[in-house]
This record gives sequence, structure tokens and C-alpha cells, in this order.
Amino acid sequence: MTNPPGQPVALVTGAGRGIGREIALALAREGCPVAVAARSSDQVEATAATVSSLGVPSMALVLDVTDERAVAQGVAAIVARLGRIDVLVNNAGIAESAPFAKTDTALWERHLRVNATGPYLLARAVLPAMLERRWGRVINIASLAGLVGAPYVTAYTASKHALVGFTRALAAEVAGKGVTVNAVCPGFAATDIVWNGARNIAARTGKSFEDAVEAMARLNPGGRLIEPVEVAAVAAKLLRDDSTNGEAIVLDGTA
Ligand code: NAP
Repeated sequence: MTNPPGQPVALVTGAGRGIGREIALALAREGCPVAVAARSSDQVEATAATVSSLGVPSMALVLDVTDERAVAQGVAAIVARLGRIDVLVNNAGIAESAPFAKTDTALWERHLRVNATGPYLLARAVLPAMLERRWGRVINIASLAGLVGAPYVTAYTASKHALVGFTRALAAEVAGKGVTVNAVCPGFAATDIVWNGARNIAARTGKSFEDAVEAMARLNPGGRLIEPVEVAAVAAKLLRDDSTNGEAIVLDGTA
């Protein structure tokens, strides 16, 4: 496998906060110039400023990953500023819970669009140049929900299973061409997604917020929440790994 010219340039979606922010910082610590994208401009600006403070070029992009034209324009803007995109981290995602009876078409389609179609659009935009250079990484932040089922999250679970399936099929298609495609599958992690979920559970059940967080943590096989830095460490490891392809790497809090 050939190496990228100089330090690989990364694009991390959903990097305004939570897991995506930690991945952007981890890749910056590896020396990668990093473009960070999400819809909230204040948050992407803040992450980009922190990336810059680590001594690598950065770029903040206000981008909705479901908007095909915005994705094409965003990718073009990164290539114009940072030269190319060698590493795509599809991290942007949403997670809303609802009993199936209350899972309306809008909620269903929102999850499929953000969590599965978004990564597809980004991969379509960046993959041809990676294949031409014969070096690239596509890292899809899926979820344990991409591998197993759980109650009250049919839309989220279906979207993350789609993302894992997409990962495996694309990995098979690009195998041997210098590009790897992998998924990272964390259990419940310590971010807004869990804090918001715990607030919902507390409101619906009368449990305290702390008890609701604890109950979610216990659903992870390791009995604790995953830290965003743990997910970021896997992404950083995949950066230097030429041989792992088509994997769904589980982070379940066992360690
Ligand atoms: P988070 O703190 O809510 O961050 C989600 C990020 O995605 C934000 O930066 C958000 O920014 C961005 N985003 C959402 N919709 C977007 C869109 N349409 N276009 C562009 N950006 C968008 O959640 P997180 O926990 O860090 O989640 C990151 C990823 O990890 C998600 O894919 C999630 O499914 C996955 N994950 C999370 C957990 C968990 O328990 N936390 C577990 C397993 C997997 P804006 O709202 O500003 O756009």
C-alpha cells in the first residue's frame, strides 16, 4: 500500500461536540490537518480553533450531511484549502428513542437520512480521489445498535445496521486498492445523546437523571459508559493500520 503524500488530511463530520470533537483532536495530535463539519457554526469554529492550537491546519465547515449539494461544495472547499481528503470520518449522527407505535415516518426517515444516507453522500464525494491516489481511510462511527437490537430505537437501530452493512460492502469493493473502510461500534457513550436520553427517561418514568444514566451504562456489556476519547483512540489507530478492512470494531466498556 502506498502512503499519502505528507500528513493525511482528515474530514470529521459531527465534530462540533461529543465523539466527533475528540476524533478531530486525536487526528490532529497524529499530525493530520483536520476539517470539522456540523450544522452549528459556533461549535465547529470552537473545535477548529482547538485543532489549530495543536499546531496543524484546520477548517470549520457548516454543513448538513443530508444535503447533497452542500456536501459537494464542502468537499470542494476543503480540497481548495487543505489540498485533499485522505481520511473521512462519518461521525455525524442523531439518536431519538420512541416506542415503535410512536415511530412516525418523519422520525424514521430522519434517522436513515442523517445516519446512513449522510455517510453514503460523503463517501461518494471523497472516494474517487482516494482510489486515484491509492490511499484512504473511511471510518464510520456506527454503534452497538448497528449489530444488535434493543427496544424503543427501531429507527436508530435500522439506520446503524444500514451503516454497518454499507461499511462491509464498500470495504469488499475497495479491498486491495489502498483504501480501507471500517465501522466503530460503541455502546452508550458519555455525550449529549446519553444525557438527552436520560432526561427523557427521567421525564417519562419519574427516575432521577442520575439513575437513568446509570441504567443506560448498565446496558453496556462492560457496565459503564464509553468515553469519547476511547472511540477517538480507535479512529487514530485505524489511521496507521493498512490491513484492517470491513470490520465492525466493538467498544463495549469491557476494558
Ligand atoms: P452528539 O454529541 O449529539 O454529536 C453529534 C454531532 O453530529 C454534533 O456535532 C451534531 O452537530 C452533528 N450532526 C447531527 N446531525 C447532523 C447533520 N444532519 N449534519 C451534520 N452534522 C450533524 O452525539 P455523539 O454521541 O458524539 O454522537 C456521535 C456519533 O456517535 C453518532 O453517529 C452516534 O450515533 C454515535 N454513537 C453515539 C453513542 C452514544 O451513546 N453517545 C453510542 C454509539 C454511537 P449539529 O447538531 O450542530 O449538526
